[in-house]
Amino acid sequence: MEATLSTKKGFSFGLWESHGSAIVTSFCLLFIILAYLARINDHFFLEITLFLFAYLIGGYQKALEGLHTLFKEKDLDVDLLMVIAAIGAAAIGYWMDGAILIFIFSLSGTLEGYTMERTNKDIRSILDLRPEKAVLLRNAKQVPIKAEELKKDDTILVKPGERIAADGIISQGYSAIYQATITGESVPVDKTVDDEVFAGTVNGYGAIEVKVTKLAGETMLSKIIHLVQEATKEKPPNQLFVEKFEGIYAKIVVLTAIVLMIAPPFLIGWSWKETIYRAMIFLVVASPCALVSSIMPAILSAISNASKERVLFKGGAHLENIAGVKAVIFDKTGTLTYGQPVVQEIISYEGTPEMELLKITASIEALSEHPIARSIVQYAINNDLELEHSTNLRSLQGLGVEGSLNGINYKVGKKDMLDNIALTKEQENLALKFEQQGRTIIFVSNEQSLIGMISIFDQVRLEARSVIKQLKNMNIRVALLTGDNEVTAKKIGENAGIEEIYSGLLPEDKVEFIKKMTTKYGKVAMVGDGINDAPALAAASVGIAMGAAGTDIAIEAADVVLMADNIEKIPFAISLGKRTNRIIKQNVAFAIGVALTLIVLNFIGGIINLPEGVVGHEGSTVLVILSGLRLLR
Ligand code: ADP
Ligand code: MG
Repeated sequence: MEATLSTKKGFSFGLWESHGSAIVTSFCLLFIILAYLARINDHFFLEITLFLFAYLIGGYQKALEGLHTLFKEKDLDVDLLMVIAAIGAAAIGYWMDGAILIFIFSLSGTLEGYTMERTNKDIRSILDLRPEKAVLLRNAKQVPIKAEELKKDDTILVKPGERIAADGIISQGYSAIYQATITGESVPVDKTVDDEVFAGTVNGYGAIEVKVTKLAGETMLSKIIHLVQEATKEKPPNQLFVEKFEGIYAKIVVLTAIVLMIAPPFLIGWSWKETIYRAMIFLVVASPCALVSSIMPAILSAISNASKERVLFKGGAHLENIAGVKAVIFDKTGTLTYGQPVVQEIISYEGTPEMELLKITASIEALSEHPIARSIVQYAINNDLELEHSTNLRSLQGLGVEGSLNGINYKVGKKDMLDNIALTKEQENLALKFEQQGRTIIFVSNEQSLIGMISIFDQVRLEARSVIKQLKNMNIRVALLTGDNEVTAKKIGENAGIEEIYSGLLPEDKVEFIKKMTTKYGKVAMVGDGINDAPALAAASVGIAMGAAGTDIAIEAADVVLMADNIEKIPFAISLGKRTNRIIKQNVAFAIGVALTLIVLNFIGGIINLPEGVVGHEGSTVLVILSGLRLLR
């Protein structure tokens, strides 16, 4: 019955509080036992005093909360109902029953507190997997450091799609900045040299250099924890329904109890004592304690379980959504593939030496966050090349990048970027040959002509094939969505066992596609890593981001984060969602069933008495909580 308390408090339900509430519950039990001993030894006053202690210790917190809801929110809740029922029981001499009621009530609160705290701990533990980093620019060289080591007046490089690690002023470049975390505004703001940028906001398409003015108090870690806290408080629809229902239902129960306390002596000739006794039982068994405990403990346990598998659910609603997913759509680079492409061939034109071509390309790509960019830079470094300081990088999503080096503008990316430059027949054929081998061709051009092609090969994740097979076995459609060209996409799809392939897509095409799939099939999950995937991740019923190698912007847009880029956990996450839904449904049915049965048995011939009512009702509450805790395993 304690769902309301712990969820109201969100993650503030810390270890100390859980232990505190366990101690309170134990003392309540202790006083009940002592009172019982006093009773069998005929110490009446001692017995009542001890019971009073048990009531006070076990019930005072709930009473305060119930009164708070009553006076501040002008509403009745289960807390108050239970306290009234317990006091009512004592008033007609059933001290023991009232005390047991309070004890089990307190026990279920403790159980839920521990669940909450455990979830909290499990989530924190996986967030450590992604420490906040920054790229310091020292003599035009990139030095990766921890964000906390930044100092005022340092210059940092913020690549496209990355989170800005400190407040500062742009000293080079231009970009669109997503400031939703600060202003709540979801449309990005264009910024250029001398404009102010803020820690925690997310960089859009451009690479910018930022002079640090103030250090961030809040790291990405604390930000996400906060986000998850918010999300955990943001209850799933079914919980909201139950809670709304709780308020109305509680009023009906109280009104009915009042009627039942007054009417029977006149109508069916019950004695007053019998009447009040039956009304009290009604109050106890009709309280929706079990119902409100049916959902949150289950969801928290599932989130905690997922965290242990390094899968971060940003909230309970996503468990419900992922359970109903009819199709899973994968991005290619960095999601289905390792995102660690290896340079295969370098072909240079226009008399540019191969190493010079590599050096130019890598110097431009040094400002990009794309897996392709990272691999070209790595390859240049492996070849002992000194990269030069490029500027004004702009990432054309799904196409490639543009940037300037020594006063010349270069374009690096797909063929579509070449605009007015035409390929010769020979160049076309060469590119096609590589593409048929599953390679991606990166075209490099300056303002006038194509100066070279670099072919790269990115391996499909070893586990991809089996993941896709598992999904298909679960009757889930699988598709591949990529900005890369058709020939390469087909080859990669073939390696992974995906037949449905959509290639050459720009980010907005990906969104359109997701929307189409949603209307056609119902719930759809999108799995992606890049800035180009972020809009699609947000549009999908469930967005799943790669947490280790993925961009900050994708992680922010997603609902579920695979902290270790472990796509093999996707079938697990779906099954977990299904199990959670199943257990919640069972719980709700069980809770309602028990309550109805007890209500009927109470009035038909008085088959049950207060002890059975208390045990049946509170027992069902503890049972649904324990049943929810099954999801921890
Ligand atoms: P995917 O959808 O497979 O993750 P993207 O949409 O990120 O791929 O990119 C699509 C294509 O655009 C890539 O296959 C590549 O040809 C080109 N591209 C994107 N970014 C870059 C970059 N930084 N450098 C070179 N090529 C790029
Ligand atoms: Mg990608």
